[in-house]
Amino acid sequence: MPTFSFEFFPPKTEAGERTLWNTVRRVEPLRPDRVSVTYGAGGSSRDRTVAVTRRIAAETTLRPVAHLTAVGHSVAELRAVIGQYADAGIRDVLVLRGDPPGDPGGPWTPHPEGFTYARELVELVRSLGDFTIGVAAFPERHPRSPDWDSDIRHFVAKCRAGADYAITQMFFHVEDYLRLRDRVTAAGCGIPIIPEIMPATDVRQIRRFAELSGAAFPEDLAHRLAAARDNPAEGHRIGVDHATDMAERLLAEGAPGLHYITLNRSTAALDIHRNLQIPRSLSVR
Ligand code: FAD
Repeated sequence: MPTFSFEFFPPKTEAGERTLWNTVRRVEPLRPDRVSVTYGAGGSSRDRTVAVTRRIAAETTLRPVAHLTAVGHSVAELRAVIGQYADAGIRDVLVLRGDPPGDPGGPWTPHPEGFTYARELVELVRSLGDFTIGVAAFPERHPRSPDWDSDIRHFVAKCRAGADYAITQMFFHVEDYLRLRDRVTAAGCGIPIIPEIMPATDVRQIRRFAELSGAAFPEDLAHRLAAARDNPAEGHRIGVDHATDMAERLLAEGAPGLHYITLNRSTAALDIHRNLQIPRSLSVR
């Protein structure tokens, strides 16, 4: 049975906090396999990630996944954050290298006592306890990878270092996911690669996300969304239908699960999930 999970980010305001917790409570009865909380670039945002993840662990029946990046952290600090998660009973970590703060495309400078690549952080988390470790995968290749060979080689190194599964960057063409999976399998790595589903209901917002992540946004979808610019309900329908269609095709092609981006609002992700009629998870904590 395919797994499914929902992704949140740590809100900055009290209103954002209320929106997030409303969404968490709407997601909870669906019994997703996991819910994840992204990790920011700065100190206060990071504290909020830890706080939100801990609260999900303490106050809900959900199984939280803590994202963690190497950005700006010494190894000692990374150990401390992992220790905080372990103390809160969190055993799932999505391990990422992260991007340079302020300019995601700018030059990457590791912390002088930190890590350069996600693989090193996977090794650290693996050495610190019995964690389930996820890593990132890129259906259109990581924007910094010069070619596919090196991209896949470094991805496989993360698997060998101890990753249990991967979640992809957002993408809008099913074929990109299938090609990535074939390449990874051919390189001898068999971990599940879970596609990320980004509901594209607002053309401006999604274009910005797609530019940041390097994902190619389909022009026909962009046109249809642009035509519905003054009709949010129609934009919602177009985005949900497109994502539902993609998700159905991915599952039919054997994708092991789906990871929905919620942007802390439940409507689009829940509508897609309802359309797919994935049965409740049987997995237990
Ligand atoms: P890596 O695996 O380290 O790869 C980065 C680049 O280095 C790739 O081009 C890789 O091929 C190359 N590389 C790896 N090893 C070597 C080597 N030994 N020699 C030479 N080159 C090498 N960012 C956040 O800040 N917070 C989040 O919460 C967050 N969540 C995410 C969730 C998902 C599902 C995804 C897909 C991404 C997320 N990101 C997040 C973004 C992520 O941090 C960036 O995409 C980052 O640029 C790459 O991270 P990585 O873990 O793939 O890095």
